[in-house]
Amino acid sequence: MDLSYGEEYEEFRREVQAFLAESWPPRGDEAQLPQNEQIDRFRERGVEAGYLSRSIPRKYGGSEQEADSSKAAVIGEEFRRAGAPMDLLGGGVSLLVPTLLERGEEWQKEKFIKPTIRGHIRWCQGYSEPGSGSDLASLQTKGELVGDEWLINGQKIWTTGAQFADYCFCLVRTEPEQPKHAGISYLLIDMHQPGVEVRPLKQMTGNSGFNEVFFTDARTPRDWIVGKRGEGWLVSRTTLKHERSGLINVGQATSQLPALVDLARRSTRNGRPAIEDPEIRQKLAEVEGFMLANEYSLRYRATKDIKGQDPGRIQLMAKLIRSDIGQEVAKLGMELIGDDGLLAGGAASEMGRPDGPQDNGAWVTTYMGSLAGAIAAGSSNIQRNIIGERGLGLPRDAAAQRGK
Ligand SMILES: Cc1cc2nc3c(=O)[nH]c(=O)nc-3n(C[C@H](O)[C@H](O)[C@H](O)COP(=O)(O)OP(=O)(O)OC[C@H]3O[C@@H](n4cnc5c(N)ncnc54)[C@H](O)[C@@H]3O)c2cc1C
Repeated sequence: MDLSYGEEYEEFRREVQAFLAESWPPRGDEAQLPQNEQIDRFRERGVEAGYLSRSIPRKYGGSEQEADSSKAAVIGEEFRRAGAPMDLLGGGVSLLVPTLLERGEEWQKEKFIKPTIRGHIRWCQGYSEPGSGSDLASLQTKGELVGDEWLINGQKIWTTGAQFADYCFCLVRTEPEQPKHAGISYLLIDMHQPGVEVRPLKQMTGNSGFNEVFFTDARTPRDWIVGKRGEGWLVSRTTLKHERSGLINVGQATSQLPALVDLARRSTRNGRPAIEDPEIRQKLAEVEGFMLANEYSLRYRATKDIKGQDPGRIQLMAKLIRSDIGQEVAKLGMELIGDDGLLAGGAASEMGRPDGPQDNGAWVTTYMGSLAGAIAAGSSNIQRNIIGERGLGLPRDAAAQRGK
């Protein structure tokens, strides 16, 4: 398989390199500005040049470029090489913005998209509840229309970044008498109000990436709804489609491999470098094969997307494969660092371990993160159900058939 980009794209690469050589890192007076301002100005230029926010229309602050996965890959490679800021990640950009573009009112697009892609406002995703995760449509948080406002009562959980968010895109039950999928609406809610309480949850990594969010008579204006009343399930499917594809980045499919090989060179097994151990070599080769196969599949999928063709089952498999690979990489990393995997970050250095605790601490964090990766945005079991039902035509989950 020939995966080279071809001369047209190499020419484009030189253009991107020239832009970066001029624009990043900032020089002169600009280098004295606070870092967030430097990044802001750089992003403005990146949009102007057509390299950032490529899928977003100009009138909402994007650069409105034609979809071209090879160009996007070249930009990604060159920006990463230069250490330049890329498009922001996170729920606001990757989930809400595409949803607004597809289903939002004009005023919603004008008000929210530009500040979101520039990072001036931050969002959290209020979907999961204590009793509603995989079975999301059973959610109970209530939204009642009182005069010109929605009154919201209930609890969300696992809400990433809620403690820093300005707004929440949230699923609430607005038609309790309707069957569960039909009774949900998609509301936008201001997080800075008395009716919203955010309680961070402590994770096993020691961090608090996500939160519980309590709504007690929280309010949002009547027209801060995306899509029609009772059609929030449909709207949320748009978001999830983007969330799943947002987790897929062709260029990153093999990006963890060099670190793993490097770790195998520095670690020892039976008194010799682990990289010389046949069992470790075998495992590295398996992981590399898995990563490369995934990269080719993602390129195939991206090409189909651009041509407007159905990528088929690969679409359904991508999230599961990515989280499986993440786990294989993390498990091999843990095996290589051996007993140091039992030590938290700084502890290994305090004990005078030769290979550096940051490295080992990072592998422990990678391992814990890989467990979360198999749950976030739809657990691996649910992904398998989707592949079975939609990809292979197997009978539907019994509970789903009963409409529960
Ligand atoms: C890192 C991370 C970030 C997150 N961020 C957010 C966020 O910002 N906003 C938000 O709303 N949510 C967020 N979540 C929550 C996430 O969406 C849910 O954890 C996920 O949907 C699973 O729901 P649950 O935790 O309630 O598990 P459950 O649904 O209770 O599942 C428990 C187990 O049962 C299995 N299972 C459940 N149903 C089936 C079935 N029908 N068939 C086979 N197996 C089944 C699951 O695979 C899982 O192994 C985040 C989660 C993680 C890990």
